[in-house]
Amino acid sequence: MIMNRIAPALLAAGLAAGTAGSALALEEVNVYSSRHYDTDEALYSDFTKQTGIEINRIEGNADELIARIQNEGANSPADILITVDAGRLWQAQQKGLFQPIASDFLKQRIPAHLRHPDGLWFGFSQRARIIFYDRTRVKPSDIQTYESLADPKLKGLICSRSSGSVYMLSLGASIIEHDGPEKAKAWALGLMNNLARAPVGGDTEQLTALASGECAIALANTYYYARALRSPVRGLEPEKRENIAWVFPNQNDRGAHVNISGAGVLRNAPNRDNAVKFLEYLAGDSAQAYFSAGNDEYPVVPGVAISPSVAQLGPFQQDTLNLEALGRNQPAAQRMYDEVGFK
Ligand code: FE
Repeated sequence: MIMNRIAPALLAAGLAAGTAGSALALEEVNVYSSRHYDTDEALYSDFTKQTGIEINRIEGNADELIARIQNEGANSPADILITVDAGRLWQAQQKGLFQPIASDFLKQRIPAHLRHPDGLWFGFSQRARIIFYDRTRVKPSDIQTYESLADPKLKGLICSRSSGSVYMLSLGASIIEHDGPEKAKAWALGLMNNLARAPVGGDTEQLTALASGECAIALANTYYYARALRSPVRGLEPEKRENIAWVFPNQNDRGAHVNISGAGVLRNAPNRDNAVKFLEYLAGDSAQAYFSAGNDEYPVVPGVAISPSVAQLGPFQQDTLNLEALGRNQPAAQRMYDEVGFK
């Protein structure tokens, strides 16, 4: 469902028609976002307070928003698309929706691997996809790498969401990049053969299945667990997660696979300069802390405070592969999973 969060007066002023030549001389920026966290409200209102630029927001799921921007074409009022996972940003990029932004500030603040090399999109918070396990059933020494999850000795122990999820496509894309397509395919087959059950549900379902004993190992993004540390999540209450521990994989080689919540300026943005201002605002210290905490993620800007629930997961080394590779290898990752029969 797409939700409009636009003041009625602005709608009346003709958001869809753009604001060029409008008698209102209103400074605004139109943000299409698949993020919807209460904490984001403060983030948006603070930008308006600082700059006088009004933010009009349209929220929906990423696929709907991308389709909407495509349908609106050259007349799209959208200035910015915010979504999660470099794989999805790449999908929007492939459709030609973004324009390159050259901002020294964004370049200087955001590490190079977390933004598109030509400025088509930028990461503003990050998450790692890591290995959670039941400490009464699994030795951490057996699950130190993503590659180890394909070892036959873990047969019947692993819970994973389906291979079609963008998170699994991005992880598969990363394995292809690092290990090559042959080894990656053997990995996908080995992982599938070790599943405790057919893939079902999202990351929270993998974690609750781990807590209930249905599996002994689960792959999930860090924020799903950090969220349970911050506020009650059904099936992950403190007494239910007593035996859950986690490993940040590949700490002795490339580092843990990370991904981003990110944004890009749209090709037909009617308020391009304001859009750039908004992205630069998101890379500021206080916005960074807010934006990342809103979804229990890590800031991308080094030195910005990590929220307490996320900090509980502990420090780790991250893979510094440019996330563009995750998009580039996405079709190959889909083929790889299809070929081994990983649903
Ligand atoms: Fe998620």
